[in-house]
Amino acid sequence: ASGYYRVVKENRNLYNMVQDLKGNIRVYCRIRPSFSPETKNMIDFIGEDGTLVILDPLRPQKEGKKVFQFNRVFGPTATQDEVFKDTQPLIRSVMDGYNVCIFAYGQTGSGKTHTMSGPPGGSMKDRGINYLALNYLFQLSNKRKDVINYDIHVQMVEIYNEQVRDLLAEDSSTTKLEIRSCTSDNGFCLPDATMRTVKSTTEVLNLMKFGEVNRAVSSTAINNRSSRSHSVLTVHVHGEDISGNILRSCLHLVDLAGSERVDKSEVTGDRLKEAQYINKSLSCLGDVIMALAQKNSHIPYRNSKLTLLLQDSLGGHAKTLMFAHGSPEEDSFGETVSTLKFAQRVSTVELGAARLNRESRDVMQLKEQIESLKKALANKE
Ligand code: ADP
Ligand code: MG
Repeated sequence: ASGYYRVVKENRNLYNMVQDLKGNIRVYCRIRPSFSPETKNMIDFIGEDGTLVILDPLRPQKEGKKVFQFNRVFGPTATQDEVFKDTQPLIRSVMDGYNVCIFAYGQTGSGKTHTMSGPPGGSMKDRGINYLALNYLFQLSNKRKDVINYDIHVQMVEIYNEQVRDLLAEDSSTTKLEIRSCTSDNGFCLPDATMRTVKSTTEVLNLMKFGEVNRAVSSTAINNRSSRSHSVLTVHVHGEDISGNILRSCLHLVDLAGSERVDKSEVTGDRLKEAQYINKSLSCLGDVIMALAQKNSHIPYRNSKLTLLLQDSLGGHAKTLMFAHGSPEEDSFGETVSTLKFAQRVSTVELGAARLNRESRDVMQLKEQIESLKKALANKE
């Protein structure tokens, strides 16, 4: 057997076996620190085993206790490194050929961007999962370089009002991207979005900064736009071992739009359109997950841009991690409970075993030929 098998075997052994038994959707909850000491804290209990108890401020007695169960709960004192430590095995499985999707869900201000990106212009110590994940991919690539040669590419887009925008393009305002099916990627992709090859964490940091500036530019035009759009950082991994086995996988890192309900009676015009789009794509995400849970034959991926793009990473063949974010302050009780309820439903979903995307060079070349023939055909039409 080639060196490739050795590496994969080692890594699959323990962690992946345990994870496969648990099913391929896991839910971590994260409660951020409280920022207003004058507001009461409603967190009653956080257990090592993933239990979370919160108190209904209107019914502070025993019957007002709401108990939730997740794969893990991170409390206000959890550090970025602690959160990443429990995410790391999933990132490792991307290098082994699995598709992985990690998304942050929760109302605006609950800490989604903190978990995924880290604080704006933050110190290196507080970098989020996006950076830590890529950093770890480089480490693994380096460690395995004698047996597998890896290439890592990234794309960064924003989905706003059901339009996909390229955050790595020089002029991101003009490009509206189409999501297309890609045989070689085993799913859907954005062939026209800027794809950057990255070789170091410095390059990654620069790209992320570029993308964030691009995102911020439009948020001055439409106030607080970033809380109403989804940002998707996609990492494509391509590996080839010494005997010509090829693996392709991708990692989607998604900072979702705020999940708060917008009171439609108070908004009109563009705002109303915006609110409808956000509700639509978040509820589509919920519908997809529920359809997967019920093992329906039809999964409604096509109902939103977000679910279509994530299709290959949300299905039965991928590994999914949801971060459900909550605020500890009493005045966000309603929104936090609705996030936790959604997350609780997601955590009961059980998917089948994830699929390893590994093929011989011949098969991969044939797939690439099909792809280019399809392109040629499309150009002729
Ligand atoms: P969201 O992206 O969900 O709207 P943010 O990530 O922007 O929320 O968080 C809101 C504020 O709270 C930011 O100032 C952020 O830096 C801070 N914050 C969020 N989570 C944490 C945390 N775990 N520790 C420290 N500060 C946090
Ligand atoms: Mg945010």
